[in-house]
Amino acid sequence: MFSLALHGGAGTIARTALTPQLEAAYRAALTDALAVGTAVLGGGGAALDAVMATVSHLEDCPLFNAGRGAVFTHDGTHELDAALMTGADRRAGAVAGVTGVRNPIQLARLVMERSEHVLLAGVGAEAFARAQGAAFAGPDYFHVALRHQQWLEAKAAGRVQLDHGSGSLPASLPASLPDPARKMGTVGAVARDQYGHLAAATSTGGMTNKRWGRVGDTPLIGAGTWADDATCAVSCTGHGEFFIRYAVAYDIACLMEYRGLSLAEACRVVVHDKLVPVGGEGGLIAVDALGNVALPFNSEGMYRAWRTAAGEEGVAIY
Ligand code: ASP
Repeated sequence: MFSLALHGGAGTIARTALTPQLEAAYRAALTDALAVGTAVLGGGGAALDAVMATVSHLEDCPLFNAGRGAVFTHDGTHELDAALMTGADRRAGAVAGVTGVRNPIQLARLVMERSEHVLLAGVGAEAFARAQGAAFAGPDYFHVALRHQQWLEAKAAGRVQLDHGSGSLPASLPASLPDPARKMGTVGAVARDQYGHLAAATSTGGMTNKRWGRVGDTPLIGAGTWADDATCAVSCTGHGEFFIRYAVAYDIACLMEYRGLSLAEACRVVVHDKLVPVGGEGGLIAVDALGNVALPFNSEGMYRAWRTAAGEEGVAIY
């Protein structure tokens, strides 16, 4: 018995902006990613390996704001954040603001397994990546046309913005995406394996036109990523500053541990009762020790897919 949930970002995903062709592409990508993680768990694999495989797959897909499809910074580069955590022993690894690393989630795992640290940032993290033989890619690999266009628009407007969407299907893209200041990206996965262990992984390019080394919630353990076998595994997506300030992922675990709430109830309290009143737009995916899955969001949509312990599968956007 195992459970898996994944997300490809939450935010304003207007139905009018998503052509049938692009929606089909997103659904296919989510379905593929679910199959990747399910194959690991179905073959008796560990939750950690399942979330790693799922998030690595999503990082390679230009549709999502992580890895290859990451958004542009103010300086026209890509600064990637990623984190993972294992529920059995609360080990964790994370990287923030790394450039040129092909799969930041794999670097986060190297931090967890081959360093004595939890979070490495910037040039230091890149030096560690080189020392460990992690795969790098040049700027061309990360140059996705729509991301570049979003960056030019954000720069011209002088704003920092959260983006989802893709430039991999230029023919199918709408001429202008609605409400660009409120779009988000990021990918993540949570799993419970057949041995009862939980794991979570999250990866993002952050916000378009970000500068000054801005880091969001994704690589911060307890904010965007969390796992503890006693309670739950959580991966968040949304306006990172709010998720940091409200310690969203850990708060869900706390509500379960200290107040005895169910996973679904804890998610509802945090995503709707706490974040909505303060304008903290976004969502998350979570799985508990029994394999229950929750996928709450307070935004218009969240790219997501799941497979429950009972074997039910789904893919959804709205
Ligand atoms: N939470 C991410 C960040 O603030 C963005 C996102 O989820 O789209 O960096």
